[in-house]
Amino acid sequence: MKKDFKNIAILGAGESGVGAALLAKAKGINVFVSDKGEIKPSYQKELEEAGIEFESGQHDVERILAADLIIKSPGIPEKVQLIKDAVAKGIPVISEIEFAGYYTNKKLICITGSNGKTTTTMWTHHILKKAGLNVSMAGNVGESLARQVVEDKADYYVIELSSFQLDGMYDFKADIAVLTNITPDHLDRYNYEMQNYVDSKFRIIQNLTKNDWFIYNADDPIITAEIAKRDIKAHLAPFSIEKTEGMVGYVNNNQININLKPEFAMSIHDLSLKGKHNTQNSLASGIASKIIEIRNESIRESLSDFKNVEHRLEFVAKVNGIEFINDSKATNVNSTWYALESMDKPTVWIVGGVDKGNDYDSLIPLVKEKVKAIVCLGVDNEKIKEAFSGTVDVIAEAGSALEAVALSYRLAKDKHTVLLSPACASFDLFENYEDRGAQFKAAVRSL
Ligand code: ADP
Repeated sequence: MKKDFKNIAILGAGESGVGAALLAKAKGINVFVSDKGEIKPSYQKELEEAGIEFESGQHDVERILAADLIIKSPGIPEKVQLIKDAVAKGIPVISEIEFAGYYTNKKLICITGSNGKTTTTMWTHHILKKAGLNVSMAGNVGESLARQVVEDKADYYVIELSSFQLDGMYDFKADIAVLTNITPDHLDRYNYEMQNYVDSKFRIIQNLTKNDWFIYNADDPIITAEIAKRDIKAHLAPFSIEKTEGMVGYVNNNQININLKPEFAMSIHDLSLKGKHNTQNSLASGIASKIIEIRNESIRESLSDFKNVEHRLEFVAKVNGIEFINDSKATNVNSTWYALESMDKPTVWIVGGVDKGNDYDSLIPLVKEKVKAIVCLGVDNEKIKEAFSGTVDVIAEAGSALEAVALSYRLAKDKHTVLLSPACASFDLFENYEDRGAQFKAAVRSL
């Protein structure tokens, strides 16, 4: 792709759009920012101060289509008319990460997957930082990569990438690519074709050379099937919690092992985050750190003292012997599977919200084994009631976090756990998953 842009239009003025605008401006390119919604006052101020033209609440279609490059926010679907028109006119439409990638030569560790992205990104960042490296996080967490590339002070960027960002990436190349898992999610944006979503996730390895690394979850049948179809040039670093043969990272006798010199081993009991999914995340982060040649001692320490990220199986409080856990970030069935799997006490499970086409069948064995009562927390709970009415005797409904907590507290007995792990998006009753988790925690604390 040609890189001598004269006029860039940026669609969407959130953190990534504003970051891209600042970078374009710093590189001396004419840039125009357009957001159909209201641009946050703090971003408006930033754009004004940088002397960047913008519009809020509308799209000046003619001006946008006169650009020679469009940088699109990942939130804008490809099927909107403006994007279709741009593509028809031959204007390249890329994501902010792709654009930022044109202007940095630093080491890029890029992490994607249906679940575990944020945890793995933050855990990897934690290890690198504690080892004394000059490292920064970007992508879905923290400041946008483009904003950081203006000064480009870090030596390493650990970048969380969603499939929507990957869709707008073409020439971008990671040094280390990590793929945690692939399970159905966001299919509404992929014409309900799973292969389209798989292809999107696999963009994480595009342009990798033989000097680069691809770390992936070898227990995931979708990933291994896809790898078998491809000719991948990079070093492969598969990890597994089920098998050992041919693995770079694996679990054996309750130890995690990483087969890169000098070999790494550590008890899974010393990992700071519990649950099989977090063992997988620790393997991914550990392998990335070994590739960067961080000392074993340092990795071990950071794998044992990393603090959980808010709203991910987060312990809230114990009230009269009942433990409350906030897993509001579990917005699909797979993440809830891991939450239920890690429960070691009888559980009252709070579930529900906006269903993205969920199939609850895979949860039934775990629910049968662990769940004593279900509290539905959504506007429409019919599908959940139908899925579990043969498995759980008590299914109650709540219309708010406060009500859900009060009900669960009544249904739970001493030494039970109350788990909020909704398997659904939150937009019916809450602003977003953070709001749902915060309201849940506030309700628990007011018991
Ligand atoms: P993402 O950024 O991909 O959404 P998070 O790290 O924020 O991932 O975790 C989202 C949810 O998925 C949480 O409920 C968390 O407990 C669960 N989770 C974390 N890691 C994994 C994994 N490797 N596999 C499945 N579920 C996971």
